[in-house]
Amino acid sequence: MKIRKGFVSNSSSSSFVCDICGNAESGYDASPRDLGMLRCQNDHTYCESHYVVDDGMMERLVARFREDGVDAVAIDEFVSEWKSSPPKTESAVTDMIEGVDSQYGDVNYEQLAETCPVCSMQNITDDCIIGYYDRHVKPKSEVVAEIRAKATNFEEMRRLCLGR
Ligand SMILES: [Zn+2]
Ligand SMILES: [Zn+2]
Repeated sequence: MKIRKGFVSNSSSSSFVCDICGNAESGYDASPRDLGMLRCQNDHTYCESHYVVDDGMMERLVARFREDGVDAVAIDEFVSEWKSSPPKTESAVTDMIEGVDSQYGDVNYEQLAETCPVCSMQNITDDCIIGYYDRHVKPKSEVVAEIRAKATNFEEMRRLCLGR
């Protein structure tokens, strides 16, 4: 598989942009996972490094295993392994889940919304910040007028808005 950074116009290529840091990855016939990225059930795309392992994750997985009728001994082993060395990355979590029962090899537990940095609100995306500002602080139209009054060209606007 060929992997190129940035925009690729070839029709068989896929490209993914991280909703958190803006990192873009593309490759031919690649899934987000092939490129070190994850996608949640609400279609947020993010680098694996932003994956969230929160305090309640183990309990939620255990509840899921019980619902699925997983053997109690296997669940106990999972719990003691998790407690002795809590996983920090998506691949470590996936390895542990697959260790519980081979049937979980096909289940995308990493797509649980609570592991997504956007769904879990670990990161608030710019569109939400802008939407909040527009609705609750100052309407977008006023901000636009203010920017146009203070900056006369793109460079000035960038310095004014982004500080660079
Ligand atoms: Zn990222
Ligand atoms: Zn999400």
